[in-house]
Amino acid sequence: MTKMHPQNQRLSIKLLRWVILTALIAGGVLSIGQISLDAFRAMDELDNQAAQILDVVKDPATQAVYSIDPELAQQVVEGLFQQREVHYAAIGHPDETLLAQKSRPLHHAPFRWLTDSVFGQEKQFSVQLIKNEPQPVYYGYLVITIDTAHKSELFLERSVVVFASGILRAGILAAILFLVYHYLLTRPLSGIIQSLLKVNPSEPGRQTIPAPKNHEYDELGVWVSTANDLLEEISDNQQKRRAAEARVLKLSQYDPLTGLPNRLMFRNHLQSTLDDAKHAGHKVAVLCCGIDDFKSINSQFNYTVGDRLLQAFAERLSNNNGALHTASRLGGDQFSLIQYNIHNAYNVAELAEQLLKCLSAPFEIDEFSINLYTTIGITIFPDDGSNADDLLQKSEQTMTLAKTVSRNQFQFYVASVDSEMRERKLMEKDLSHALTNNEFNIVFQPQIDYQNNTIVGAEVLLRWVHPTRGFVPPDIFIPIAEDNGTIVDIGNWVLDEACKQAAIWQKQGHFIKLAINLSAVQLKDSTIEKYIKSTLDKHHIEAQYLEVEITETGVMENLSNAVDTLNHIKQYGVSTAIDDFGTGYSSLSYLKKLPIDKVKIDKQFVHDLLVDEDDTSIVNAVIQLSKSLHLNVIAEGVETEEQESYLVSRGCDMGQGYFYSRPVPADEFLTYILEYSKTPSKID
Ligand code: C2E
Ligand code: CA
Ligand code: CA
Repeated sequence: MTKMHPQNQRLSIKLLRWVILTALIAGGVLSIGQISLDAFRAMDELDNQAAQILDVVKDPATQAVYSIDPELAQQVVEGLFQQREVHYAAIGHPDETLLAQKSRPLHHAPFRWLTDSVFGQEKQFSVQLIKNEPQPVYYGYLVITIDTAHKSELFLERSVVVFASGILRAGILAAILFLVYHYLLTRPLSGIIQSLLKVNPSEPGRQTIPAPKNHEYDELGVWVSTANDLLEEISDNQQKRRAAEARVLKLSQYDPLTGLPNRLMFRNHLQSTLDDAKHAGHKVAVLCCGIDDFKSINSQFNYTVGDRLLQAFAERLSNNNGALHTASRLGGDQFSLIQYNIHNAYNVAELAEQLLKCLSAPFEIDEFSINLYTTIGITIFPDDGSNADDLLQKSEQTMTLAKTVSRNQFQFYVASVDSEMRERKLMEKDLSHALTNNEFNIVFQPQIDYQNNTIVGAEVLLRWVHPTRGFVPPDIFIPIAEDNGTIVDIGNWVLDEACKQAAIWQKQGHFIKLAINLSAVQLKDSTIEKYIKSTLDKHHIEAQYLEVEITETGVMENLSNAVDTLNHIKQYGVSTAIDDFGTGYSSLSYLKKLPIDKVKIDKQFVHDLLVDEDDTSIVNAVIQLSKSLHLNVIAEGVETEEQESYLVSRGCDMGQGYFYSRPVPADEFLTYILEYSKTPSKID
């Protein structure tokens, strides 16, 4: 769009040019006309003047020729020369002899060359000298020539004035016209142009162009109001077109029945999600949900109910979809979700299970209460496929296949992941009933003090005997219990159980310090300190007979919080030990910051003691460091005599391991301590 016109293209300038030109031409032509008229007048004047002159001297001249008096004639001629225009004068006799004559040179004037061409250099006039009494008798003649210069000089001066004033008049007229045009036309037009430039092309109806002041009802005003109407109409049309485009776009991207994104949009969204995930190194899961046996629903009820059911299903699916997933309808009875940034298959299994649970609740449609079951096929990026189409296709395949086997369940694309997740989910379910079903028990593993070769304590270890699976190792079920938080209840139960057992033994005279494993999840729970205190009080156990073992990773997650909690626990008199030392971050520097009494060397280092040089030096270093920090050291997993004697030689304070005893139930543990005190010392 042209924003501004070059100066010489402006309408007012163009008008000015035309006005000046025409005014000048008109002024010029008129002036020339007037001057020509003037020229004729000047010529007439000249004739009149000559006639007057001749009239005046006619009588004396007649007298002179009548009396043939050259002297008088000469006087008459001289008298004629009083007039400056007279160039030549002569009085003559009829026989052609001159009585008197006189001439003088032509008047010198600068513009003669110009005026002579109009008037001629000179003009001759003559008169017959006649005496009328008694009869008219012709006696001679008088002739004069008039120099035109004097008259034409005046004429020229007048002409210049006429011409100049003509031009000046034209100029003034032009200027007035220009101003009139400017105020009536150019300026309001420029105003309109400025307003037009401000009109937003994408919303032309938003601003109305104001009519120029005082032009509301003339052509400009009408022009502006017509333009405004036009702009509004354009705007209306644009809006309609946009709405239509949006409708088309929505139809092409969304499912009209449920309002969810359709397959195409889902696919595109998935692909861009995958691109981002690839960049960030994240995992993404694609969940394909198919309603089990939807056909029979349609035949059992009717299509309207079927549609309403699909809508309700979609709504439930997207309500469950949180900020993390995007629900879409792939078509028919198939829906899909994306789960972003998952850490492992377990996260997906959680979501899938939650979805299955929520989707299996009955749908209330009209007077019907309808139960739907869903099967979910799951693929994981980048493990199962690298692009959207591949992952989507595989998750649909998995879903379809899973439907043939059983209903209302989820299935991972890769069989091993699937069975692992299935197993884990089952275990999680079983674990939630284990406490109430009394499937847990605790065992004790003695801890030997190398200084005086006595059993000073025992680590309390949890055992789960599942009714059908049998013994489940704590390394398997504890992480699951930690993931879903049930470890808090389980851990509390262990503490209670351990204190109960300690009270029994104390009544029998055996004062054994029990070490309890405290999970990181428990440590995060601020009620743990009070629970420990109240449990000790409940069983009348002094705090010195309790120790808590925490792992490095447990405290590292929230160091200052862990330090606070441990400090409170220590204030009661409960001692603290750091478990699995050396396996985690192994940062010796924060060991000083932690309120810790004891360091437990992990069994993996003890296992390779004297075999692996590195492990041997780690054990040495941990012992050294603990000593220098005035911390007790206990070695875990002592299995051989060699290991024991090496540890003793290095100054390790205590040991625990199969070499002394496996973790055993309470009654066996009692037998063990009774036996142990009888056997001669192993350590010398
Ligand atoms: P942990 O705290 O490091 O426990 C020591 C583990 O080493 C125990 O395994 C014990 O049976 C085993 N062990 C003892 N001596 C030897 C030995 O000489 N050789 C070998 N190879 N192993 C030995 P367990 O009972 O299977 O426990 C495994 C882990 O489960 C424990 O590791 C602990 O982290 C966790 N855990 C067990 N009970 C509890 C509990 O009540 N609460 C919590 N939070 N965690 C527990
Ligand atoms: Ca432990
Ligand atoms: Ca350990």
